[in-house]
Amino acid sequence: MSEREDKRKQVVAEAWRIGLSELLRCQAWLDQQVRRVLSSTDPQLDAQHLVIELRKVPEPVRSIAMTAGVDEDSRKRVFAAIRDFVSAVPDARLLRNVVEHLDDYRRGLGRLQQPSRYPGRPQPDAELARQFQLDFTMGVEDGVARPVLCTRFIRDDGRPQQLSVDLIDAVRAARRLGVAVFRAAPTGMAPLANKTQRSAAEGYRLPSPEKAMAAMLLQGVQPLEPYPGANVLWKCSCQRCGSVLAVTYTNVQRRSGSPCVFCLGRGR
Ligand SMILES: [Zn+2]
Repeated sequence: MSEREDKRKQVVAEAWRIGLSELLRCQAWLDQQVRRVLSSTDPQLDAQHLVIELRKVPEPVRSIAMTAGVDEDSRKRVFAAIRDFVSAVPDARLLRNVVEHLDDYRRGLGRLQQPSRYPGRPQPDAELARQFQLDFTMGVEDGVARPVLCTRFIRDDGRPQQLSVDLIDAVRAARRLGVAVFRAAPTGMAPLANKTQRSAAEGYRLPSPEKAMAAMLLQGVQPLEPYPGANVLWKCSCQRCGSVLAVTYTNVQRRSGSPCVFCLGRGR
Protein backbone atom coordinates (compact mmCIF):
# COMPACT_ATOMS: atom_id res chain seq x y z
CA MET A 1 0.00 0.00 0.00
CA SER A 2 1.32 3.41 -0.92
CA GLU A 3 2.20 5.87 1.78
CA ARG A 4 -0.49 8.27 0.56
CA GLU A 5 -3.16 5.58 0.63
CA ASP A 6 -2.08 4.62 4.12
CA LYS A 7 -2.34 8.20 5.33
CA ARG A 8 -5.80 8.62 3.78
CA LYS A 9 -7.04 5.51 5.61
CA GLN A 10 -5.67 6.87 8.87
CA VAL A 11 -7.49 10.18 8.37
CA VAL A 12 -10.78 8.38 7.67
CA ALA A 13 -10.39 6.08 10.69
CA GLU A 14 -9.64 9.07 12.90
CA ALA A 15 -12.71 10.93 11.58
CA TRP A 16 -14.93 7.97 12.53
CA ARG A 17 -13.29 7.59 15.91
CA ILE A 18 -13.72 11.24 16.80
CA GLY A 19 -17.21 11.53 15.33
CA LEU A 20 -18.56 8.42 17.05
CA SER A 21 -16.94 9.31 20.36
CA GLU A 22 -18.37 12.84 20.29
CA LEU A 23 -21.78 11.48 19.38
CA LEU A 24 -21.67 9.09 22.35
CA ARG A 25 -20.62 11.91 24.61
CA CYS A 26 -23.45 14.10 23.38
CA GLN A 27 -26.00 11.31 23.84
CA ALA A 28 -24.80 10.64 27.37
CA TRP A 29 -25.17 14.35 28.16
CA LEU A 30 -28.70 14.46 26.71
CA ASP A 31 -29.70 11.40 28.75
CA GLN A 32 -28.39 13.04 31.88
CA GLN A 33 -29.97 16.39 31.04
CA VAL A 34 -33.45 15.00 30.41
CA ARG A 35 -33.25 13.25 33.79
CA ARG A 36 -32.18 16.53 35.28
CA VAL A 37 -35.17 18.30 33.70
CA LEU A 38 -37.51 15.75 35.29
CA SER A 39 -36.21 16.44 38.79
CA SER A 40 -35.10 20.05 38.46
CA THR A 41 -36.11 22.99 40.62
CA ASP A 42 -36.13 25.00 37.38
CA PRO A 43 -37.08 22.50 34.67
CA GLN A 44 -37.67 25.21 32.07
CA LEU A 45 -34.11 26.49 32.32
CA ASP A 46 -32.74 22.95 32.09
CA ALA A 47 -35.03 22.29 29.12
CA GLN A 48 -33.64 25.42 27.42
CA HIS A 49 -30.10 24.11 27.80
CA LEU A 50 -31.15 20.78 26.35
CA VAL A 51 -32.69 22.48 23.30
CA ILE A 52 -29.52 24.53 22.73
CA GLU A 53 -27.36 21.40 22.86
CA LEU A 54 -29.75 19.45 20.65
CA ARG A 55 -28.75 21.38 17.58
CA LYS A 56 -25.17 20.22 18.00
CA VAL A 57 -26.03 16.52 18.05
CA PRO A 58 -25.58 15.86 14.30
CA GLU A 59 -22.44 17.99 13.97
CA PRO A 60 -19.81 15.37 14.84
CA VAL A 61 -21.36 12.83 12.49
CA ARG A 62 -21.75 15.41 9.74
CA SER A 63 -17.97 15.92 9.96
CA ILE A 64 -17.46 12.19 9.38
CA ALA A 65 -19.59 12.32 6.26
CA MET A 66 -17.73 15.38 4.99
CA THR A 67 -14.33 13.73 5.35
CA ALA A 68 -12.71 12.94 2.02
CA GLY A 69 -12.18 9.21 1.57
CA VAL A 70 -15.20 8.03 3.59
CA ASP A 71 -16.91 5.38 1.49
CA GLU A 72 -20.00 6.44 -0.42
CA ASP A 73 -22.39 3.95 1.17
CA SER A 74 -21.48 5.01 4.72
CA ARG A 75 -21.71 8.65 3.74
CA LYS A 76 -25.23 8.21 2.36
CA ARG A 77 -26.35 6.34 5.45
CA VAL A 78 -24.94 9.00 7.76
CA PHE A 79 -26.70 11.79 5.87
CA ALA A 80 -29.96 9.80 5.86
CA ALA A 81 -29.64 9.32 9.64
CA ILE A 82 -29.10 13.08 10.09
CA ARG A 83 -32.18 13.83 7.99
CA ASP A 84 -34.24 11.43 10.13
CA PHE A 85 -32.97 13.15 13.27
CA VAL A 86 -33.81 16.62 11.98
CA SER A 87 -37.30 15.61 10.85
CA ALA A 88 -38.00 13.88 14.19
CA VAL A 89 -37.59 17.23 15.99
CA PRO A 90 -38.68 19.67 13.27
CA ASP A 91 -38.98 22.73 15.53
CA ALA A 92 -35.63 22.25 17.27
CA ARG A 93 -33.65 24.62 15.06
CA LEU A 94 -36.05 27.58 15.34
CA LEU A 95 -36.77 26.98 19.01
CA ARG A 96 -33.04 27.05 19.65
CA ASN A 97 -32.89 30.44 17.94
CA VAL A 98 -35.61 31.73 20.29
CA VAL A 99 -33.97 30.29 23.42
CA GLU A 100 -30.51 31.56 22.45
CA HIS A 101 -31.87 35.09 21.85
CA LEU A 102 -34.47 35.18 24.59
CA ASP A 103 -33.76 38.77 25.59
CA ASP A 104 -34.51 39.93 22.06
CA TYR A 105 -37.73 37.92 21.85
CA ARG A 106 -38.93 39.20 25.22
CA ARG A 107 -38.61 42.75 23.88
CA GLY A 108 -40.21 41.94 20.53
CA LEU A 109 -36.85 42.15 18.77
CA GLY A 110 -36.47 38.50 17.78
CA ARG A 111 -35.31 37.74 14.29
CA LEU A 112 -38.47 35.73 13.60
CA GLN A 113 -40.64 38.50 15.05
CA GLN A 114 -39.44 41.43 12.98
CA PRO A 115 -36.57 40.91 10.59
CA SER A 116 -37.58 43.96 8.51
CA ARG A 117 -40.56 45.53 10.16
CA TYR A 118 -38.80 48.86 10.57
CA PRO A 119 -36.25 50.34 8.23
CA GLY A 120 -32.78 50.09 9.70
CA ARG A 121 -32.41 48.63 13.16
CA PRO A 122 -35.44 46.85 14.64
CA GLN A 123 -36.98 48.69 17.58
CA PRO A 124 -38.43 47.11 20.71
CA ASP A 125 -42.12 46.44 20.21
CA ALA A 126 -44.39 46.34 23.25
CA GLU A 127 -47.19 44.45 21.50
CA LEU A 128 -44.83 41.77 20.15
CA ALA A 129 -43.23 41.55 23.59
CA ARG A 130 -46.63 41.08 25.21
CA GLN A 131 -47.55 38.29 22.81
CA PHE A 132 -44.32 36.37 23.33
CA GLN A 133 -44.48 33.31 25.54
CA LEU A 134 -42.01 30.60 26.44
CA ASP A 135 -43.43 27.73 28.44
CA PHE A 136 -42.37 24.45 29.87
CA THR A 137 -45.05 21.83 30.36
CA MET A 138 -44.83 18.41 31.93
CA GLY A 139 -47.56 16.25 30.50
CA VAL A 140 -48.08 12.56 31.14
CA GLU A 141 -48.95 10.13 28.37
CA ASP A 142 -49.61 6.45 29.11
CA GLY A 143 -47.93 6.92 32.47
CA VAL A 144 -44.78 8.38 30.88
CA ALA A 145 -43.67 11.96 31.54
CA ARG A 146 -43.66 14.19 28.45
CA PRO A 147 -41.60 17.31 29.16
CA VAL A 148 -42.18 19.86 26.40
CA LEU A 149 -40.61 23.26 25.81
CA CYS A 150 -42.73 25.48 23.62
CA THR A 151 -42.99 29.07 22.52
CA ARG A 152 -45.69 31.25 20.97
CA PHE A 153 -45.19 34.59 19.32
CA ILE A 154 -46.36 36.75 16.44
CA ARG A 155 -44.25 36.43 13.34
CA ASP A 156 -43.06 39.26 11.17
CA ASP A 157 -45.94 38.56 8.74
CA GLY A 158 -48.46 39.02 11.56
CA ARG A 159 -49.28 35.32 11.89
CA PRO A 160 -49.07 33.46 15.18
CA GLN A 161 -46.18 30.98 15.37
CA GLN A 162 -45.93 28.07 17.74
CA LEU A 163 -42.82 25.95 18.17
CA SER A 164 -42.41 23.01 20.48
CA VAL A 165 -39.91 20.29 21.26
CA ASP A 166 -40.87 17.19 23.20
CA LEU A 167 -37.67 16.41 25.08
CA ILE A 168 -38.30 12.67 25.28
CA ASP A 169 -38.86 12.54 21.52
CA ALA A 170 -35.65 14.51 21.07
CA VAL A 171 -33.57 12.14 23.21
CA ARG A 172 -35.11 9.16 21.41
CA ALA A 173 -34.21 10.71 18.06
CA ALA A 174 -30.63 11.26 19.21
CA ARG A 175 -30.41 7.60 20.18
CA ARG A 176 -31.78 6.47 16.84
CA LEU A 177 -29.20 8.68 15.17
CA GLY A 178 -26.50 7.00 17.24
CA VAL A 179 -27.66 3.50 16.34
CA ALA A 180 -27.92 4.35 12.63
CA VAL A 181 -24.48 5.96 12.51
CA PHE A 182 -22.86 3.06 14.37
CA ARG A 183 -24.46 0.71 11.85
CA ALA A 184 -23.13 2.83 9.00
CA ALA A 185 -19.58 2.66 10.32
CA PRO A 186 -17.35 0.16 8.53
CA THR A 187 -16.02 -2.62 10.75
CA GLY A 188 -12.84 -1.68 12.55
CA MET A 189 -14.04 1.92 13.10
CA ALA A 190 -15.33 1.29 16.62
CA PRO A 191 -15.00 4.35 18.80
CA LEU A 192 -13.21 4.65 22.10
CA ALA A 193 -10.97 1.64 21.57
CA ASN A 194 -8.23 3.76 23.08
CA LYS A 195 -10.40 4.74 25.99
CA THR A 196 -11.21 1.10 26.70
CA GLN A 197 -7.54 0.28 26.60
CA ARG A 198 -6.85 3.22 28.90
CA SER A 199 -9.54 2.06 31.31
CA ALA A 200 -7.96 -1.40 31.38
CA ALA A 201 -4.54 0.12 31.91
CA GLU A 202 -5.86 2.24 34.74
CA GLY A 203 -7.08 -0.87 36.48
CA TYR A 204 -10.82 -0.76 35.83
CA ARG A 205 -11.98 -4.30 35.61
CA LEU A 206 -13.68 -4.96 32.32
CA PRO A 207 -16.37 -7.62 32.61
CA SER A 208 -16.43 -10.94 30.84
CA PRO A 209 -19.25 -11.21 28.28
CA GLU A 210 -21.24 -13.43 30.66
CA LYS A 211 -20.89 -11.01 33.58
CA ALA A 212 -21.76 -8.05 31.39
CA MET A 213 -24.88 -9.84 30.16
CA ALA A 214 -25.99 -10.66 33.72
CA ALA A 215 -25.30 -7.11 34.89
CA MET A 216 -27.45 -5.65 32.13
CA LEU A 217 -30.35 -7.99 32.97
CA LEU A 218 -30.12 -6.85 36.60
CA GLN A 219 -30.62 -3.28 35.42
CA GLY A 220 -33.72 -4.27 33.50
CA VAL A 221 -32.34 -4.39 29.97
CA GLN A 222 -32.09 -7.44 27.74
CA PRO A 223 -29.08 -7.43 25.40
CA LEU A 224 -30.08 -8.22 21.82
CA GLU A 225 -26.62 -8.87 20.47
CA PRO A 226 -23.30 -10.25 21.77
CA TYR A 227 -21.36 -8.09 24.20
CA PRO A 228 -19.46 -5.57 22.07
CA GLY A 229 -17.13 -4.15 24.76
CA ALA A 230 -17.72 -1.92 27.77
CA ASN A 231 -17.74 1.46 26.04
CA VAL A 232 -19.37 0.56 22.76
CA LEU A 233 -23.08 1.00 22.11
CA TRP A 234 -24.92 -2.23 22.79
CA LYS A 235 -28.33 -2.93 21.37
CA CYS A 236 -30.72 -3.96 24.14
CA SER A 237 -34.42 -3.92 24.86
CA CYS A 238 -36.10 -2.54 27.95
CA GLN A 239 -37.67 -5.35 29.93
CA ARG A 240 -40.38 -3.02 31.12
CA CYS A 241 -41.64 -1.39 27.93
CA GLY A 242 -39.90 -3.37 25.20
CA SER A 243 -38.23 -0.32 23.63
CA VAL A 244 -34.99 -0.96 21.78
CA LEU A 245 -32.10 0.99 23.32
CA ALA A 246 -28.51 1.63 22.39
CA VAL A 247 -26.57 1.89 25.64
CA THR A 248 -23.06 1.20 26.78
CA TYR A 249 -22.29 -1.23 29.57
CA THR A 250 -20.28 1.46 31.37
CA ASN A 251 -23.11 3.99 31.34
CA VAL A 252 -25.68 1.46 32.50
CA GLN A 253 -23.45 0.45 35.41
CA ARG A 254 -22.86 4.04 36.46
CA ARG A 255 -26.47 4.93 36.99
CA SER A 256 -29.03 3.54 39.33
CA GLY A 257 -32.39 2.59 37.94
CA SER A 258 -33.49 1.77 34.44
CA PRO A 259 -31.40 3.24 31.63
CA CYS A 260 -34.55 3.30 29.49
CA VAL A 261 -35.39 6.85 28.49
CA PHE A 262 -38.85 5.75 27.44
CA CYS A 263 -39.61 4.67 30.99
CA LEU A 264 -38.44 7.99 32.45
CA GLY A 265 -40.90 9.55 34.78
CA ARG A 266 -42.95 6.41 35.24
CA GLY A 267 -44.05 5.72 38.76
CA ARG A 268 -42.36 2.86 40.55
ZN1 LIG B 1 -38.54 1.17 28.94
